[in-house]
Amino acid sequence: MKIICIGRNYVEHAAELKNEVPGEPVFFMKPDTALLPAGKDFYIPDFSNDIHHEVELVLRICKEGKHIAEEFASKYFDQITVGLDFTARDVQQRQKEKGLPWEPAKAFDSSAPVGSFIPLNEVKNTKDINFELKKNGITVQSGQSSLMLFSFEKIIAFVSSYVTLRKGDFIFTGTPKGVSRVEVGDQLEAFLEGKSLLKVSVK
Ligand code: ZN
Repeated sequence: MKIICIGRNYVEHAAELKNEVPGEPVFFMKPDTALLPAGKDFYIPDFSNDIHHEVELVLRICKEGKHIAEEFASKYFDQITVGLDFTARDVQQRQKEKGLPWEPAKAFDSSAPVGSFIPLNEVKNTKDINFELKKNGITVQSGQSSLMLFSFEKIIAFVSSYVTLRKGDFIFTGTPKGVSRVEVGDQLEAFLEGKSLLKVSVK
């Protein structure tokens, strides 16, 4: 399986990192070794002093498709959860300044904790899903899918024009504002419509 991530999909997050708002989806990938299974702790890697949390809605692809039309894209995902796109912001900044790829900052081991999935038909309004991240019990990020620049369907249509999507692939759909550094001892908990679906201890 593969993990596809969308960057700069929320205007206020693009602004907090002083990035331009893109005209089309920005995507990158994480390998399957980035997955952090539920219940496992996250260890801050020694190559970074500035690991940021990015809470995101994560879709699970349910059938193979390529060149998927936007109008049929909703047939290609059937489950949703919240995940963290852990990012080595210091490494990313260095890579950006040199015009180099983001993989060292984004694709490292355990950089993708993913919560328990719930069937999409259990979500009452898929166009306006609320999600949030608490750090040590305090809400640090909260988002609504209605504020995404590019909808789930648009993302699937765009990405599948480059990359075949397969059953079991995950798509991280971008983070709202409020990203910040994690420290040893932090307890992160992510919620979808108020339901706790992911807990990560930072070591
Ligand atoms: Zn992200």
